[in-house]
Amino acid sequence: MSGGRPTRPVGIRRFHFCLASGDSWHTHLQLDTDMRENGTHTNGQHPDLSAFEGVDFSDAENRDVVIIGTGPAGWTAALYTARADLEPVIYMGPEPGGQLTTTTDVENYPGFPDGILGPEMMDRFQEQAERFGTESRYGTVTHVDFRERPYRLLIDEETPIYAQTVIVSTGASAKYLGLENEQRLIGKGVTACATCDGSFFRGETVAVVGGGDSAMEESTFLTKFAEKVYVIHRRDELRASKIMQERAFENDKIEFVWNTEVIDVLGDQSVEGLEVINNETGATYTMDDVTGFFLAIGHTPNTGPFEGWLDMDEKGYILTQPESTYTNIPGVFASGDAQDDEYRQAVTAAGTGCKAAIDAERWLAEHGVVAPHAEAEDVAVGA
Ligand code: NAP
Repeated sequence: MSGGRPTRPVGIRRFHFCLASGDSWHTHLQLDTDMRENGTHTNGQHPDLSAFEGVDFSDAENRDVVIIGTGPAGWTAALYTARADLEPVIYMGPEPGGQLTTTTDVENYPGFPDGILGPEMMDRFQEQAERFGTESRYGTVTHVDFRERPYRLLIDEETPIYAQTVIVSTGASAKYLGLENEQRLIGKGVTACATCDGSFFRGETVAVVGGGDSAMEESTFLTKFAEKVYVIHRRDELRASKIMQERAFENDKIEFVWNTEVIDVLGDQSVEGLEVINNETGATYTMDDVTGFFLAIGHTPNTGPFEGWLDMDEKGYILTQPESTYTNIPGVFASGDAQDDEYRQAVTAAGTGCKAAIDAERWLAEHGVVAPHAEAEDVAVGA
């Protein structure tokens, strides 16, 4: 999500969402019924279940709500389901706290006028969720079996647990080139979030790598602050939409560097240049005026364990029913960046985590697993 320099604050690209209306609830129930009747799998076949072979589920816990992932979406889902007395268990995953733990100051989450450090913010999310009874556990959900409820999950390949409902909040990860020095300088001038970090490069020269809409949008945005913005693209034509291309072409501060790949990021404590290669001529050279390096080569949703079970778009983002967090599997809900390729903000993720919690609570009540709870009705009208 965000890098930036250690000595300067870093914002997070996140913004606003709204609660589902009470009206849409009935629509969801109908969709749920339809999905049950129509089957849940796109190809009619179940994914490989061999990981479950030999795992003894006879004494496995059976939880009403299992939340997977501990970014803003997961913790918010935990807060709401805990307050609804559903005693959620949340699995922290391989990166507890999610993308926000890799940043410094978050300046665009409402309610923190002076900003807050990303890791501290996630600690507070956790503290608030646990105050109401959330059980937090280290561990990664590696396999799921969504054939019948209660659903079977495997934690770290081996520990079994049953779940009546599952809230998937596994997030997405920005793609990086994978260069050693690029990785070392993340947060020190290397970043995948122009919206978060652009303002820290006032009057400087920065480079954006990528040729899609994100690269065009972010390079155009960066010209608000930077004196000059290079767009380094590996081909000689852009993938971006015409209108976004034209906007970038018309901007005097943007210079395109075609057929070029970044092969090293220079600098000790901060970015001091790029080593690049022209892939047509084979010539390598240094761009030593670059002090900020922005990746805009896409994101990867962390949805691997759900492939074959949950409907996804071609990039692997989980598809949810309009205006809800319902997936194609009844009782499985998706929230946060794992289902959002568009906004990817902390506050939108938190908003969908809240929606997933309310959807799960209502679903459990509707299916007779738990009694209806007053708070769901309160929040449905905007409390
Ligand atoms: P994208 O469309 O997948 O583009 C990624 C770009 O990065 C491509 O130009 C690709 O090059 C390049 N790239 C990928 N891997 C690379 C590597 N290892 N080294 C160098 N270059 C690499 O991703 P995106 O721009 O993030 O857009 C994602 C989706 O969001 C798209 O559907 C887009 O339309 C949408 N979006 C919309 C808006 C908007 O409408 N305002 C803004 C942002 C994004 P090649 O072209 O050579 O493959």
